[in-house]
Amino acid sequence: MSIDFRIEATSKQARAGRLSTPHGEIETPVFMPVGTAATVKSVPQDVLEELGVQILLGNTYHLYLRPGIETVRNLGGLHTFMAWPRAILTDSGGFQVFSLNELRKVSEDGVTFRSHLDGSSHFFSPESAMQAQIGLGADIIMAFDECTEYPADRARTQASMEMTLRWAARSKKYFEEHKQEVPWKQYSVPSTQCQEKDEATPETASTGNSVLGTGYSTQSLFGIVQGGMDLALRKESAERTIEIGFPGYAIGGLSVGEPRERTREVIEATLEHLPKDKPRYVMGVGTPEEIADYASLGVDMMDCVLPTRAARHGLLFTSEGKVSIKQARYTNDAGPLDPNCGCRVCRRYSRAYLRHLYASNEVLAQVLNTLHNLSFYLDTMRRVRHSIRLGEESRFLSGLWSQPKP
Ligand SMILES: [Zn+2]
Repeated sequence: MSIDFRIEATSKQARAGRLSTPHGEIETPVFMPVGTAATVKSVPQDVLEELGVQILLGNTYHLYLRPGIETVRNLGGLHTFMAWPRAILTDSGGFQVFSLNELRKVSEDGVTFRSHLDGSSHFFSPESAMQAQIGLGADIIMAFDECTEYPADRARTQASMEMTLRWAARSKKYFEEHKQEVPWKQYSVPSTQCQEKDEATPETASTGNSVLGTGYSTQSLFGIVQGGMDLALRKESAERTIEIGFPGYAIGGLSVGEPRERTREVIEATLEHLPKDKPRYVMGVGTPEEIADYASLGVDMMDCVLPTRAARHGLLFTSEGKVSIKQARYTNDAGPLDPNCGCRVCRRYSRAYLRHLYASNEVLAQVLNTLHNLSFYLDTMRRVRHSIRLGEESRFLSGLWSQPKP
């Protein structure tokens, strides 16, 4: 076993549950902050723990280029390398190389691409993407897929979906044959949560210094449903990905330029065809309103660069709508960024100070803005989980924002 997923409460389509991984438990539905290059930009790991982050996402493409998979593997894997004892998910690199556009060439074997760092040529296949993700050692890893561009006609979308299905089978085959190569057992990560549970797990007790405190000993590989914006192809992709068989399923190929209503429609239609007892992950979404909405549809996991990237551009999400802190109107504003937010930034600093930091291009601006946005996203999901457990699914949209939405 590598993960265990339990649904503990439902409210209409929404579910609240618990996902147990080799590096701790995750309350779902969960928002996963993106730590592209083994760091959630500008936030130290101990602060992420204090914020209540239970799982974060790393990008295989970036880590493969720098510092390199073997470097991370030799240092004990991503958890040890970045001193993060809790759960990690890595993507396969498929979406990143898809984003390179002119710099890539796709064939049945895989994708040849040029590094955005130095222009050097590289090749990712389902097998090498699995090898890389096993070397990084995240708790949950993703099948190598082709993200279909938008817009695409039906023939192109279908051909792309078929390729992703063949790549999913190759990903699973390689993973099953090599999953014992995960570099976890050589090193230990300080974590009282893990150590407390060690006695109860003979499998890990015998390895002495294992980090595998919860008794789950290998990574988990999730499949990815593609099919573009075509609902019939999404259904077929879901059914045939399930036939291959994975412990969790992602809906990929969204947020590629389509209208937001279409994103929601595809998510809602695809969820119908995914197993109810397995975690469902929508990749690369969304705003606070959207993640709450998708959770209400029955999505368990989401990730997005939006809260961290927007923060670095001075765009902050609050209970009163979006705030662009760079605006001159905040120069003399002594009030907190968000009077309804209990995060360390809103408790301590004024809008005027945050505006000053941003206008002065101070490093602290990025730190504080990111801290608030992440807190806001995590609080949003906390409220969503709470509402599902109370059976108040409809309230997390109407009650979450006290003011009209931006
Ligand atoms: Zn705040």
